[in-house]
Amino acid sequence: MADTIADNLSTVRADLPEHVTLVAVSKTKPVSDLQAAYDAGQRVFGENKAQEMAAKHPELPNDIDWHFIGHLQTNKVKYIAPFAAMIHAVDSLKLLREINKRAQQNDRVIDCLLQLRIAKEETKFGLTPDALSSLLEAPEFAELQHVRIRGLMGMATFTENQAQIKEEFALLKDQFDRLQQDQFADRDAFSVVSMGMSGDYALAIEAGSNMVRIGSAIFGARNYQ
Ligand SMILES: *Cc1c(COP(=O)(O)O)cnc(C)c1O
Repeated sequence: MADTIADNLSTVRADLPEHVTLVAVSKTKPVSDLQAAYDAGQRVFGENKAQEMAAKHPELPNDIDWHFIGHLQTNKVKYIAPFAAMIHAVDSLKLLREINKRAQQNDRVIDCLLQLRIAKEETKFGLTPDALSSLLEAPEFAELQHVRIRGLMGMATFTENQAQIKEEFALLKDQFDRLQQDQFADRDAFSVVSMGMSGDYALAIEAGSNMVRIGSAIFGARNYQ
């Protein structure tokens, strides 16, 4: 298994331009698989369950950047606030407020990405462009000193239709560019475009992604039981 993971990692890495950060999505996988990826040089891992990430964290070396990539419920923020390097899928002011509060309690500033709803398929997650604007314009937003908005995150529709995926990624990149030139013009930290998974990362990078979240292409298929 360790050899396969190391091989998969180098295959994926060979596809990534230097400016693209690889988040190795290790959800559902045992700590031994993460250790194998770590031993092959991987330092950024992505998980989508707060308790699972909190349980794995002490089992592995402490120079890992732990990214939370899933939908995060406010009552779970406390489990990851002491150590999370980045939270990808922030989609409400309520969640941001809770992350801010827990980060403050831990004397930290937590990097966050705002999730934009780009998929045409029905999904309840992610902000519409309008909701994103109102969040950024809310007076309270400017007062959150313990979160740092680093960029946007999105997921394309799960489809074979390449043109549709491209279009959805382009939508996210447009929004990112607009915000970078406008609200975030004086903030260099606003620099992350998180899009692309095992099945669509090539398209995502073409569309301007600089952070890809790749699971099954590295660790193999997941077994949900
Ligand atoms: C699981 C997951 C991924 C990785 O998916 P793969 O298809 O296994 O690469 C990426 N992003 C998010 C938000 C996920 O939940």
